[in-house]
Amino acid sequence: MSIVAKIRDALFGSASAEIRDPTGIYVYVRCDRCGAPVRVRIDRVYDLQHDHETGEFVVHKEIMDGTCFALMQAHIRLSPRYAIISGEVTGGKLISWKEYNALAKRSATKA
Ligand SMILES: [Zn+2]
Repeated sequence: MSIVAKIRDALFGSASAEIRDPTGIYVYVRCDRCGAPVRVRIDRVYDLQHDHETGEFVVHKEIMDGTCFALMQAHIRLSPRYAIISGEVTGGKLISWKEYNALAKRSATKA
């Protein structure tokens, strides 16, 4: 990437960057069955359960993979500042934004 493109991305956000959403938290999972990457939006208002003892948040979310329609169950724990502390996905695996991006690009070139 050129220096100019780097500066532009830093200032305005790049097209391939993560979505900026004030009430949403995005997590990324990969389907165990077909390997497809799935982006999951967690709504700070509707999806979070507050754990009063720790101040953390707990999320239970059903995710459907749009490629093979497998159902996955995600159990995610977030810090009081909405950072992911731990996560477990039945039927899939939590992946990073970078991994998601790489997988999404790969399936786009395949199709
Ligand atoms: Zn799948």
